Amino acid sequence: LKHYVNGFPEESDLMIVTAPDTMELKVKPGSSTILVKNLFLSCDPYMGTFMRESDSGSSEVAVETLSLLDAFIPGKPIAGVGVSEVIDSDDPCFAKGDFVWGIVDWEEFKIDISINVPLSYYTGILSVTGLTAYAGFFEICSPKKGETVFVSAAAGAVGQLVGQFAKLMGCYVVGSAGSKQKVDLLLNKFGFDDAFNYKEEPDLDAALKRCLPQGIDIYFENVGGKMLDSVLMNMNVHGRIAVCGMISQYHTETEEGIQNLPVVVYKRIKMQGFLAFDFIDRFPKYLEFVLRYINERKLVYVEDIVEGLENGPAALVGLFCGQNVGKQVLKIA
Ligand code: NDP
Repeated sequence: LKHYVNGFPEESDLMIVTAPDTMELKVKPGSSTILVKNLFLSCDPYMGTFMRESDSGSSEVAVETLSLLDAFIPGKPIAGVGVSEVIDSDDPCFAKGDFVWGIVDWEEFKIDISINVPLSYYTGILSVTGLTAYAGFFEICSPKKGETVFVSAAAGAVGQLVGQFAKLMGCYVVGSAGSKQKVDLLLNKFGFDDAFNYKEEPDLDAALKRCLPQGIDIYFENVGGKMLDSVLMNMNVHGRIAVCGMISQYHTETEEGIQNLPVVVYKRIKMQGFLAFDFIDRFPKYLEFVLRYINERKLVYVEDIVEGLENGPAALVGLFCGQNVGKQVLKIA
């Protein structure tokens, strides 16, 4: 990170630094540590909010759970979810050549390479992204067969999974995304029942009424702002809203006001924010669930893999204007 960021993150807020090659590529005997080489890095929207100097609370709340903010200090390398190879180990649980995923310094999930999936999946569908979709949808939304589900940023890393989980549950699923290519993916690859491009249809209320004339039972919120306001007017009584993220509000000067919040009262809507890390104990159950559907080819997963650390800043800030198609991953080795 070059400096703290006020406003919209740009590529130039990050810098690539080549450090002198002084690191000893061995672990000390008796240290119970492992040394890893990073292969894939995950680009996630929260990283943009962590680039701000934390004075307003949101990052501080997250840091209790994520312990990541320490890495977002000017002059230091940023951190996040990655997939790595063990190159030396003094820990009996890990051997040279094992693959692990996790967050800097405390990798704790060994990857079972007998499972035949791309290693990059451990930055997304088999990692925090997947757990986010699973916990947010099943735990927060309590879905029932036949209910209507609306997902915003639906072609993204989390959204594509939520939509597919909802279809597996027998729900009627609609998504919004910011390009024709993404809307085609929703309809033709992820099996959404209907979808619209919010950039071409600024009357969001009309788009929602057209796609969901029966109203919305479940809203999986990734975007916030005007989208949330329009969704509120289209929610059904006893609807549920999982507030996963509000990417449209992360880098605005002043957050947009929500006009329609009072409907939450008379429609008895349950609206709950959550962090994937709150559900980390469900991870083994999630893995079992998701691998079954991957193996049965009932779940597909689209990644947008960019190669080379030098292309990382562009890939990361591209999340905030919808450049990515699917999960944004950076392949570095
Ligand atoms: P995505 O892969 O969905 O990438 C972000 C997408 O957001 C972009 O591709 C773009 O899609 C959309 N977007 C960007 N800016 C705007 C805007 N101003 N208005 C509307 N849409 C916008 O990222 P993730 O799947 O990783 O994250 C999705 C959401 O989930 C984010 O809000 C993120 O913060 C949240 N999240 C929350 C977690 C938790 O624990 N609660 C964990 C992980 C993610 P488009 O082209 O459709 O506009």
